[in-house]
Amino acid sequence: MQISKRVHSIKPSPTLAIDAKAKALKQQGVDIINFGVGEPDFDTPINIKEAAISAINSGFTKYCPVAGTPELKNAIINKLKRDNNLTYSPEEIIVSCGAKHSIYNIFQSIIDDGDEVIIPAPFWVSYTDMVILAGGKPVIIQTNDKVDFKATSEEIEKALTSKTKAIIVNSPSNPTGTTYTANELKAITKVCVKNKILIISDDIYEKLTYDNFKFTSIAEVCPEVKELTIVVNGVSKAYSMTGWRIGYAAGPKNIISAMAKVQSQSTSNASSISIKASVEALNGTQDYLEHMKQEFEKRRNYIVQGLNNIKGITCRKPEGAFYVFPNIKSLLGKAFKKRIINTDIEFADYLLDVAKIAVVPGSAFGAEGYIRLSYATSIENIKRGIDRLMTILKD
Ligand code: PMP
Ligand code: GLU
Repeated sequence: MQISKRVHSIKPSPTLAIDAKAKALKQQGVDIINFGVGEPDFDTPINIKEAAISAINSGFTKYCPVAGTPELKNAIINKLKRDNNLTYSPEEIIVSCGAKHSIYNIFQSIIDDGDEVIIPAPFWVSYTDMVILAGGKPVIIQTNDKVDFKATSEEIEKALTSKTKAIIVNSPSNPTGTTYTANELKAITKVCVKNKILIISDDIYEKLTYDNFKFTSIAEVCPEVKELTIVVNGVSKAYSMTGWRIGYAAGPKNIISAMAKVQSQSTSNASSISIKASVEALNGTQDYLEHMKQEFEKRRNYIVQGLNNIKGITCRKPEGAFYVFPNIKSLLGKAFKKRIINTDIEFADYLLDVAKIAVVPGSAFGAEGYIRLSYATSIENIKRGIDRLMTILKD
């Protein structure tokens, strides 16, 4: 049977593929240091687990409303008010099976064939393929470490065409950790409001900003922008709940209801047990967030310094998320252990084969000449990883 052209035109998620490879090697007994994985290494907090167990024991194990239970919608509404000063009604909220699913549903709901979505690069691997699957065209704005991986309002304005439907803003960013200030966001909103471009604000790393950097969601910037923005968030990163698969979107009623229609014909509701756990995550104590942040901040400082001590690598210190995105361009074209490394993909392969370190090549994120390391792993692992890197890049 012939596979559809649409599916032919996309690739499997490279981040998930590298993580799977690293985990498989580990299971075979190989001493892999996994910087590939994009998930917190902390356990899900106990109060959240208990809420899930109690959901099971009380029989909360049946279908529920497609767009999420009123209880979880209320918890999300309260969270958006409390943390972001944004006001939404229940019809403006939808709960899906992870933020990835929320973004997928958005594209399925807003894109007609040939519609364009502006995506600043480096971008999270799934944005472009999800746009393509919906029949749209990703329009990439290339940025680099010299400009802190930030797209400007001028660049956005230049990328607009009559087909532009939306732009994705992901701050803090996967893969760079770059975080836009409120003023930078304000400048972007001016272009979007003037040209009536929908903003998809992927706020999944909201809780992970360092050095007292204050997170701002682009939807908060002004009232006109809120009407043009869909905020995407979830519990995966903030509460170490990647496997529970709960994400949500908040935005204009007509788009949310279109997303619910798509979801009603695909997954139906997200898992009822995870829904109960997420109510507890959002309504319960937020105390552990500070601990997690402090731990990530320590690791970030350590890894950035370690990488910058390696000749040929330069690494910007990111304000958020748990990724670093060092520039390795000056190592390319050189031979290491008699192996010539020409691209970031070959570099990542070399690290895995020789040093047993898993990283994701920058080209997976639309940025050649970089690699992504996730520091959602212990300081000991980071130290061992940096030592190994130093050793294999010596000759
Ligand atoms: N957006 C970004 C930028 C991410 O890094 C991730 C994590 N892969 C997601 C969305 C999706 O997260 P989840 O589906 O686990 O909620
Ligand atoms: N956000 C993670 C990453 O980028 C999870 C993997 C994925 O969904 O792509 O590694």
